[in-house]
Amino acid sequence: MAFSPLVDELVESLRCLPGVGQKTAQRMAFHLLERGRSGGVRLAGSLNRAMEGVRRCDSCQNFADTELCPICEKPERRNGTLCVVESPSDLLAIEQAGDYKGSYFVLMGHLSPIDGVGPEEIGIERLLRRVEEEGVTEMILATNPTVEGEATAHYIADRLDGKNVLITRLAHGIPVGGELGYVDGFTLTHAFRGRKPLAD
Ligand SMILES: [Zn+2]
Repeated sequence: MAFSPLVDELVESLRCLPGVGQKTAQRMAFHLLERGRSGGVRLAGSLNRAMEGVRRCDSCQNFADTELCPICEKPERRNGTLCVVESPSDLLAIEQAGDYKGSYFVLMGHLSPIDGVGPEEIGIERLLRRVEEEGVTEMILATNPTVEGEATAHYIADRLDGKNVLITRLAHGIPVGGELGYVDGFTLTHAFRGRKPLAD
């Protein structure tokens, strides 16, 4: 239907975003071209810089601009408590709740053999190394309360067997099948305070 190959290319590119189909991509492209040129230019610049410059933190695997993310750079956060989450949005939700003062490990997913995601893909060896190197005494397995999240938590707990690390799991308030990133701060804080040892 092309009236402009450049517009077509923009629409096609926008479709790489999650939940954006042809119609939405067209609406976005037309909006940027009609009324949002300066925003569009800024967006293009940010996209470029982020795609080139954002890497994974060497310690926690979260997105970072430098070798260590701002949380891992703070020595006081390495206080022996390590919280394992599935995604950066889970980490953000916990940080915004404001109660937790330990360090993190971001799996960037969960175990999913059917999709070819094994322990290596989510960084389990790196996680276990940190337990040794930092003298972790408590690991909070804050993976999502989904089938995959539970399976991932149990796998990690099994790998820590005999290592003298207290393993806890978030308690009440987190809806089964839900995602931490969408839980309000109050509920999340309560779930944290009510965490309990992971049962076999
Ligand atoms: Zn980090």
